[in-house]
Amino acid sequence: MAPLSEHTVESLESRLVAEGFRASHAARVLRAFYTAGGDVDWTALRLPRALAERLAASGPAGPAVAGPAGSTGPTLAARQVASDGTTKLLLRLADGRAVETVMMPDDRGDRVAGCVSSQVGCAMGCDFCATTRTGFERNLTAGEIVEQFLALRREARAVGRRVQTLVFMGMGEPMLNLEPVLAAVRRIAANELGGLGWRQVTVSTVGIVPGIDALAASGLNVHLAVSLHAPDDATRARLLPMGRRFGVEEILAAADRYQAATGRPVTVQYCLLQGVNDSPAQARQLARLLAGRRMHVNLLRYNPTGLSLRGVEYAPASAAVTDGFLAELRDRGVVAHVRRPRGREIEAACGQLRRRAEAAPLQS
Ligand code: SF4
Repeated sequence: MAPLSEHTVESLESRLVAEGFRASHAARVLRAFYTAGGDVDWTALRLPRALAERLAASGPAGPAVAGPAGSTGPTLAARQVASDGTTKLLLRLADGRAVETVMMPDDRGDRVAGCVSSQVGCAMGCDFCATTRTGFERNLTAGEIVEQFLALRREARAVGRRVQTLVFMGMGEPMLNLEPVLAAVRRIAANELGGLGWRQVTVSTVGIVPGIDALAASGLNVHLAVSLHAPDDATRARLLPMGRRFGVEEILAAADRYQAATGRPVTVQYCLLQGVNDSPAQARQLARLLAGRRMHVNLLRYNPTGLSLRGVEYAPASAAVTDGFLAELRDRGVVAHVRRPRGREIEAACGQLRRRAEAAPLQS
């Protein structure tokens, strides 16, 4: 049996029938699986003993503990916890590759935000990102994305919290693996399974225009975040090689279409890099671009990752420059905030933990 995280209710019904069990068990099995964060004591459920034994023998136990023999679910390869509670998990997949998943506690004591990966490695080559240095390895399956959510659910539960929001902002470009991303979101958001709700899910992109349009056409109504990072094509192309393929205006036009189709304001992500994209003139240019648009700007503090692919050592904009950039935007009517940095001391920028773990295996 494929890992339960790869199943929809319908596909599990077919599988159970093929193995001689009643289809009607499928919904209960999956509900228990999601509710328990993937770590279910099947024998404690009211299931036919043969089915409980079948599930216990071959179902994935989930990443928090090593799976039983035959399990194909991911296992936890490393965990880092920062003083602010931000927790980074490195999950080892069945083929030996690894992905990162991050849990960020909310100021409200009972909640966390989760960040999941959509690919192993990434082909986008963003110059300031640690993920880019290992290149693209493969797409994640819907189940491997679901497993990250379940791992977050268990981590949150262990500290007395629950997963309130989920962002696709980890390793990889979600729009280049859209079908599995959409399939995972459908399960995570389904009332009878993950129960997170469409509004609690955000899909982020570096600006893959066809992907933005496809996400709008999917009807899922999740939030969209666009990583712009520069108000002009030349600066953007230096930072994000994909910037050469889709121009700033083209990306914002796609974001406009997304907003019109879903009614959801799009978030513009902008990582402030000292001396690169943080000048008052660039803030004013960004404000001009967003004039008349109901978008919200998230200013991010850069988490240094060492020398970039192009040999640049990027540094975060200073607090004073960040405040000045924010003021330039707000003075021009742009809704903008500075996102509080999380887990600075634990290599919370995507790709860092994996890169270090590949160099020297970590203890969990
Ligand atoms: S920032 Fe995101 S899209 Fe860019 S290389 Fe890193 S993981 Fe890929």
